[in-house]
Amino acid sequence: MKNAIYLDYAAATPLKNEVLESMLPYLKNQFYNPSSSYLAAKKIKDDIEGARAKIAYWLGAKPAEIIFTAGATEANNLAIHGLLKNFPGGNIIASSIEHESILSPVKNYTHALLNVGKTGKVNEDELKSLIDENTILVSIGYANNEIGTIQNLSRISSIINDVREQRRKSNNLMPIFLHTDAAQATPYLDLHTHRLGVDLMTINGSKVYGPKQIGALYVSSRIELQPIIWGGGQEYGLRSGTENVPGIIGLAKALDTAQHERKTEGVRIAKLRDFTQKELINEFPETLINGDQKHRLSNNLNISFPNKDGERILMMCDEQGLQIATGAACSANKQTGSHVLKAIQLKESNANGSIRLSLGYFTDENEAREAVRIIKEVVKAA
Ligand code: PLP
Repeated sequence: MKNAIYLDYAAATPLKNEVLESMLPYLKNQFYNPSSSYLAAKKIKDDIEGARAKIAYWLGAKPAEIIFTAGATEANNLAIHGLLKNFPGGNIIASSIEHESILSPVKNYTHALLNVGKTGKVNEDELKSLIDENTILVSIGYANNEIGTIQNLSRISSIINDVREQRRKSNNLMPIFLHTDAAQATPYLDLHTHRLGVDLMTINGSKVYGPKQIGALYVSSRIELQPIIWGGGQEYGLRSGTENVPGIIGLAKALDTAQHERKTEGVRIAKLRDFTQKELINEFPETLINGDQKHRLSNNLNISFPNKDGERILMMCDEQGLQIATGAACSANKQTGSHVLKAIQLKESNANGSIRLSLGYFTDENEAREAVRIIKEVVKAA
């Protein structure tokens, strides 16, 4: 049977060979517990610190500011619960198009959800008006997982800096921090936390051609978090549990490789995405492209075929050997529709007919052409 064409890299990325190679020794002979006292185990501890330093380099951080977690969901939960435990009277503002691993934990605290415009950009004026004297955390995803819209974090950070300045002048000692979930941005965008002006950042192995269940939270040294998992005190006491050594090594290798080639790869993928987009618009002029056309992840194409059924298109594509998504994979089994497409005020008939194609490292021109052929045929028949 012919291999299927995979265009769902936003849901999961396959391991790159060099990532797998980097992990193998730690799945075999180098299995020691990094906290053990003999030399062979200490060497593993050193390797973890090497991986931490590599990740810190790309994030413009100090190694001690990188906390390894079991994926992005846990990193997001650590950022929110870890901070709010220290500031119980504080409130949170998150954008309405965040991943569920933000939207769900914020419900435990006083919070407000920030609207986005029709392209998925957050409303900055509304952000200014929502921040009050007790706002401790603003959480805005760097790039959206469904429509690919990239937020202007530097501008959001300058709003937060203005608030800091006002608080200083009025002797309000409450700090305010900016968190970004960069899970989808990890392979494609600049992650330098100082250039972006963020205080907390989530990254994710499973979206950057690394393993699943490994991620990291950047925590600026100015912030003190409370742990959400207690035990042996690993990860500076913030994330107890014997380290996932192969995962950590794999995450560092994957991030390093992706960031080294992110500019050339971004251009290559955007070309294939734009080709796909143009072909589909030419064939179906009534289609809508969702997300911000200028500020969009180079691998994302979220497209609505009015009055068609996205689920049906997905299943028919699958039968023809093309794997795509209708929205966020993790909410695909809920029958509630996409909260992101609702937030950008897409009409129901357009939202129902939307599919998400997310291209990736192994997508080539032949695959893009074949995907276009299948989608054209399927949409006509659906
Ligand atoms: N944040 C974003 C933006 C995501 O796209 C995802 C996964 O789809 C997550 C967080 C959660 O990642 P994980 O399920 O690997 O913890």
